[in-house]
Amino acid sequence: MSELLDTSRLCVHTITTKPWSLSESIDKFENAGVGGISVWQDAATSIGIKESAKLLSASDLDVVSYVRGGFFAATSEDKRQKAIDHNKKLIDEAATLGAPLLVLVCGADPGQTLQTSRHQIQKGIEAIANYAEANNVKLGIEPLHPMYSDTRSAIVNLAQSNNIAEAIDNPMVGVVIDVYHLWWDDLLKQQIDRCGEQNNIFAFHTCDWGVPTTDMLNDRELMGQGCIQTKQIREWVDDTGFNGYIEVEVFSNKYWSQDQDQYLKKIVEAYKNYA
Ligand code: ZN
Repeated sequence: MSELLDTSRLCVHTITTKPWSLSESIDKFENAGVGGISVWQDAATSIGIKESAKLLSASDLDVVSYVRGGFFAATSEDKRQKAIDHNKKLIDEAATLGAPLLVLVCGADPGQTLQTSRHQIQKGIEAIANYAEANNVKLGIEPLHPMYSDTRSAIVNLAQSNNIAEAIDNPMVGVVIDVYHLWWDDLLKQQIDRCGEQNNIFAFHTCDWGVPTTDMLNDRELMGQGCIQTKQIREWVDDTGFNGYIEVEVFSNKYWSQDQDQYLKKIVEAYKNYA
């Protein structure tokens, strides 16, 4: 069993320590030996993209991704076009920040079938792929847990992400694997292998599923505190040859209300022992 002996592959999402500003997150992550940072849009826009870019380039942290674009599915054509325009703006922001990847939460519209939403998602990604390439920003399709398939994502398992990435067949378009969304799938290993064979694993997100989960969005747990076989899934991903960052992405009212310095220590411990 391969172990994570140091924190060089540890990346933390700014939303994980939401109470901290981007500037605080950068300082604290660096001091804790964190290697990478994934930047959520609110963290960057609250001080401005250019100022954020300055802080990030002056730090030792790798910018791993910009979170999050997508939301391509809509019953209205006008809304779909607005989503495409908005994603181009996010690609600009990612490029300015030095982020090599824009994470896509692909969207869903309860006024139409999931199949129609998936079709629109593919069209939406195709519509921005050239723009992404021109700006050297990759696009990562992140499947979400099916509980979000009403409004957040019609893409609910890795097979569906793989299908779309392979259909688009563009080296700038791949997949983001998040244990929280995919742990329940009995075909997960098979689909991770398929994703790896296609060189489509662009990012890996980890956390845990607390029992009981009391909030559908903001009650994620740290690795080791829930029922996901986090280490097993990470090893399946690594076995494909993936050697990118292991990104801790936790939305948690509980942890956000705690002392964030203590919480960051828990994150590092969880990473070392359970990621
Ligand atoms: Zn994620």
